[in-house]
Amino acid sequence: MDHTIKRLLMHLGEEFLEQLTESEKRSFLLISKWGCDGSQQIQYKMKFENETDSDANIFQSSVVPLQLVHGTGKKIIWQNPTPSSPRYCRPIRIRFVKETTDVTNEEIEYVENQIKELNKTKIDDISVKHKIVFTMVDGKVCNAATLTKSTMRPCYICGATSSDFNDLTKERPCNKDNMRFGLSLLHARIRFFESILHVAYRLPVMKWRARLTAEEKKLVDTRKKEIQTKFREDIPKANFGNTNDGNTSRRFFEEFEKSAEITGIDQNLIYRLKVILDTMCCGIKINIEKFEIYCKETAELYVSLYNFHPMTPTLHKVLRHGAAVIKEAILPIGHTSEHFG
Ligand SMILES: [Zn+2]
Repeated sequence: MDHTIKRLLMHLGEEFLEQLTESEKRSFLLISKWGCDGSQQIQYKMKFENETDSDANIFQSSVVPLQLVHGTGKKIIWQNPTPSSPRYCRPIRIRFVKETTDVTNEEIEYVENQIKELNKTKIDDISVKHKIVFTMVDGKVCNAATLTKSTMRPCYICGATSSDFNDLTKERPCNKDNMRFGLSLLHARIRFFESILHVAYRLPVMKWRARLTAEEKKLVDTRKKEIQTKFREDIPKANFGNTNDGNTSRRFFEEFEKSAEITGIDQNLIYRLKVILDTMCCGIKINIEKFEIYCKETAELYVSLYNFHPMTPTLHKVLRHGAAVIKEAILPIGHTSEHFG
């Protein structure tokens, strides 16, 4: 962190720093985000000295500086121009271990402890406090961090499970602490896309997990193949089954008219989901009250059309808690998400 500050001050320049008052120089605050994620990689044929060593899995935590502010008014003096790109990303620790709930929790404790013990950075007469928020997380890390282990993946904010997701009348108490995890936008788009597909595949039978007869199963499979084939014809390089493909989901919402035609899903619903995703990704301050109403109306539209299929956890999280999460976030939401796409 000291090194990062040193570099930032160099970037701001002596001339800028000289014109600051003494109290301004003592009131710098650097806001950064940190996060961790695991990934698998191809194993190379090179042998390790110790035969049991392996580099098949990597678990990494990193930190990204977001904003440098000063004074009581928190005047912004530097803002990370590309907070979602790996450009300003600094690794904290890289380990060759597989991502598990234990590994994730251990890493969170390890880094949070370091953050707690972090001293101010002092360079000449400038003193900088650090605020590092844990926001770069995907659903897996999030659920590990909130000790939610069930495969049903209850919402980590309100504790609701799939069977409650379509009940819009119930207001559950929300865990504000967990809202600091923010929303992962890269994953939100893909998960929204998947949610729509799941509903589309089951439209011919209008049934969710309930046991399908052999005949109904066939209907669902046929519909699935039909949709996938049509997408491949209309959207070249459409990539199904690869959850890392952000491009297909982007095209899906961008071309919402065509997507509605292919999937048989209400065009207005797809368009509304696109508007919500675009709003969250825009990175500028948004009107939270209006956003909340828009999300609520969209949830109502979903339930009125497809009540047979519970919303997915991501749809629930964004439509029910999106506005509240944005309210809790210290920066525009596009600035605090994990997004290395
Ligand atoms: Zn919830």
